[in-house]
Amino acid sequence: MSDRFLFLGPPGAGKGTQAQVLAADRGLLHLSTGELLRAEVQAGTELGAEAQSVMARGELVSDALVLAIVRARLLSHDGGWLLDGFPRNLAQAEALSQLLQELNQPIEHVVLLQLDDGILLQRLLSRGRDDDNEAVIRNRLEVYREQTEPLIAFYRQLGLIREVEAEGDVQAVAGRISSVVS
Ligand code: ADP
Repeated sequence: MSDRFLFLGPPGAGKGTQAQVLAADRGLLHLSTGELLRAEVQAGTELGAEAQSVMARGELVSDALVLAIVRARLLSHDGGWLLDGFPRNLAQAEALSQLLQELNQPIEHVVLLQLDDGILLQRLLSRGRDDDNEAVIRNRLEVYREQTEPLIAFYRQLGLIREVEAEGDVQAVAGRISSVVS
């Protein structure tokens, strides 16, 4: 059974939730860069201080910073994993390919969650996280379109994209995901 996944999709598509379900189901490390960054902010670390204002604007924190976080986690982990929220641009995707080559742990499936912008906006507005006000959300969607969406073509070329419709309740979407990965 496969145990190296990457989750891709716009903010609000439910990546975090679905990643958690699949990771629990298969006993994988769930590595969410957004969650790790929020934990750094909470803990008041230097890294958190650097990330905080960038996140509050809905921009991306520096590639070097997130890459360092991901690298450290993957190096110290033995077993399967699921990446959620990383990579978010082509530079990160290329750095990840290199890291995974070093580790001899290729990605097996890229789960792409797709959802209408209107529904995304509604979901995000009802969530109420610090960076979930309308202006910041619009910026995050724009950053996604400009910087993250090109990754779909990148991973499609590698034959790794498994597209899933993200509308419906958590269980319905989880069922669709498990039917496209094996
Ligand atoms: P969402 O998917 O709802 O946008 P995340 O928790 O994935 O939420 O990310 C929240 C914020 O954390 C992003 O808007 C960004 O500022 C920062 N972030 C998370 N992952 C990355 C990454 N890989 N590269 C740069 N910034 C990131």
